Amino acid sequence: MNEHDSEKMAAMLEELGLIEASSPDGAEVVVINTCSIREKAEHKLYSALGKLKPYKVKDPGMVTVVAGCVAQQEKDKLLKKVRHLDAVLGTHCISELPTVVRQVREARDRVVLSDFHQDVDSLHLPAPCKGPSPVCSYVTVMQGCSNFCSYCVVPLTRGPEQSRPREEIVAEISTLAAKRVREVTLLGQNVNAYGKDLRAGYSFARLLTELNRIEGIQRIRFTTSHPRDFDGDLARAMGNLESVCEHIHLPLQSGSDRVLQAMRRGYTLAEYLEKLRVLREAIPSVAVTADMIVGFPGETAEDFSQTLQALEQIRFDQIFSFKFSPRPGTAARNLPEQIPEEVKTERLSKVHELQDRITAAYHLAAEGTAVEVLVEGFRPRTGQPFGRTRGNKIVNLESADGVSVGDLVKVKILRGLKHSLTGKKIG
Ligand code: SAH
Ligand code: SF4
Repeated sequence: MNEHDSEKMAAMLEELGLIEASSPDGAEVVVINTCSIREKAEHKLYSALGKLKPYKVKDPGMVTVVAGCVAQQEKDKLLKKVRHLDAVLGTHCISELPTVVRQVREARDRVVLSDFHQDVDSLHLPAPCKGPSPVCSYVTVMQGCSNFCSYCVVPLTRGPEQSRPREEIVAEISTLAAKRVREVTLLGQNVNAYGKDLRAGYSFARLLTELNRIEGIQRIRFTTSHPRDFDGDLARAMGNLESVCEHIHLPLQSGSDRVLQAMRRGYTLAEYLEKLRVLREAIPSVAVTADMIVGFPGETAEDFSQTLQALEQIRFDQIFSFKFSPRPGTAARNLPEQIPEEVKTERLSKVHELQDRITAAYHLAAEGTAVEVLVEGFRPRTGQPFGRTRGNKIVNLESADGVSVGDLVKVKILRGLKHSLTGKKIG
């Protein structure tokens, strides 16, 4: 979601006539987009600002902006703390970037914009903007989150859950399709809740059905799904709609019911497993990935061993795992029984070890199989084409012969490596 916000801001700056600079040296405008999901992400901002200072001292006319979640969290405090910063732009205000840049340049004002807007139309997204590849794009379908999981800062930094009107989504994707985009990833913190807040009432499964009809779009992905709102309708829609990829990112977070409850996730492990059973029945080949947190306050050795058991049992294709990080304004920050850093580190490495083994086994099992790959680009160093399978696994092709970006090619997997697959085109 942050990446997509950066793409939107870059597109808006290009509309002002600016072009991308390769370094801050000599740049007229520098925007730092920020994440505050964990403390480490927030620290990156301060180190980036430190590196920026000499450039701003050299050229005081340079416009410096901090945007995104840390901007939203810190507001005017950030401007007070950092003297070489001109503007702070909260998560709902990124469409104001061109105005803010003009204001700073012309009036040398220092600006803070951090209001939450109530309707998603007001985002005025510049569509289409440059995506992760010329043939793949992100599309916002929801903003914010109203779940307030006890560890999570997102409801505070991105505001309440709001669905974007379906007509706007359809129009944006149709425009992208006309520009040769072949794959869209629908973005929201909890896409399964899509439509619940719209006056006419709508569901995510219905939205997928509608998007599946858009000519030219061959692959639809979405992230993130919340297990509580995932249901059989969506599983069946995924199975029936040919453009919807056989992959779901369904964060489990913990294998212990006690911890899940303290996290306020709204499901038990048994409920999660049952949803997965329904999904795997509808789509036997489905790839499932997840996020996991270790070291949540009060997580005992027994709770943690339940997490390891769940990973063994479910066998996710891939996971993103994190050490719990206390975030400002969240309920879990002040819980007693915070877990010592060295215990978190040890637990995280056990999770990595186990999951690496499972992922490697999937990759090895893929050797000799035939998969469909959408070619997204060429590796800068080797010139090798690369893309992803419908299950979201990265495949590097051995040869670039007869392969162009945007091709859907049939590929035989030759080798299953730790993080990717290598294959050759067979059709
Ligand atoms: N909306 C998505 C995820 C958003 S944040 C969902 O509900 O799944 C992405 C991931 O960051 C989360 O799934 C969680 O695993 C992790 N995360 C969020 N807050 C965190 C915190 N305080 N410490 C560690 N990890 C965190
Ligand atoms: Fe955060 Fe929970 Fe919302 Fe995901 S669902 S963004 S983890 S509060």
